[in-house]
Amino acid sequence: MFPASRFDGRHADAVPVRLRVEHHDLIVETADGVVLDYEQLGHVVVSEPFDHTPRLIGLPNGITLEVYDGDGGLTGALQQAGVRLPLAVRLQRHWLGVVAILAAFVGLLAVGYVRGLPAAARWAAFLLPPRLEHRMGEQFLVVLDKHHFRGTRLEPQRRAQITERFARAAAAAAPGVTYRLEFRAAGKNEINAMALPGGIIVMLDGLLNVVEDDEALAVLGHELGHVVAKHSTRQIFQSVGVGTLAGLLWGDFSGVAASVPVALGVLRYSREFELEADDFAVMLLKTQDLSAEPLYDFFLRMLEEEHERHRADIPIFLSSHPSTKERLERLHQRLYEPSR
Ligand SMILES: [Zn+2]
Repeated sequence: MFPASRFDGRHADAVPVRLRVEHHDLIVETADGVVLDYEQLGHVVVSEPFDHTPRLIGLPNGITLEVYDGDGGLTGALQQAGVRLPLAVRLQRHWLGVVAILAAFVGLLAVGYVRGLPAAARWAAFLLPPRLEHRMGEQFLVVLDKHHFRGTRLEPQRRAQITERFARAAAAAAPGVTYRLEFRAAGKNEINAMALPGGIIVMLDGLLNVVEDDEALAVLGHELGHVVAKHSTRQIFQSVGVGTLAGLLWGDFSGVAASVPVALGVLRYSREFELEADDFAVMLLKTQDLSAEPLYDFFLRMLEEEHERHRADIPIFLSSHPSTKERLERLHQRLYEPSR
């Protein structure tokens, strides 16, 4: 028995009902057991299961049933009764898409049609359906939240300020690009920010606690640069095997990258990606009438941190290629030698 709401398609009111799945039939009845509908499962349309949204079941006579299936009981019952639709939907949405992309990716590499792995990875990353890319990012965040991050302790007001300011700059620098800004704290490697696949940008309290607001905007600009160029997804395509990649996209994360070092290791970008993101940050600052100075100041601050800290505790931001010194020199050129 599954509690549900019944909409008859003519009135807006929802009638509370109960659903039963018997053999290959769906039975809708009132609380007192009066049967309202009796339909073969082959004739009903069941919506795809999403987290936190009700399943919708459409009957041929225009009646819609809304069921909250949090524990997956209904999904199980439908599957047992042989309802093929969710499987078909899943095949279509996930399996075929993923297999096609992976096959094409491997094919491209094998044939050498595209020169080298980075080019093939770039191609595949931009072809990947946004839904899958986002899913991959969510899985990274789940692992990091479980083992590494803690809730932010930043004042809600400051968070709102940073979010709003960044939103304005992002709309100007990368109109139409979707991202999601998340605030977190962390015990180790606190002076950090990162871009996960699917546009998820994580900003850590430790970083915001030591920078000015302009610098925070510069760092967020840098991370948005990674998002725009899909660096994290490209990095994943480049650095993990095809089997692992299938696991990531398919959703079986446990055996793939369930540890923080692996998850963070994947986000260690190449020199080229970092410099590209720096350039994007400078461009974003420009849309807000700022020079490259906030980013320069930030790296200067990072250089000081590097000197103060022990090597083992150097945040990813700092230990990445290129070196902070190289990035500073590049920005210095932009700031003081514009003609070069
Ligand atoms: Zn970066």
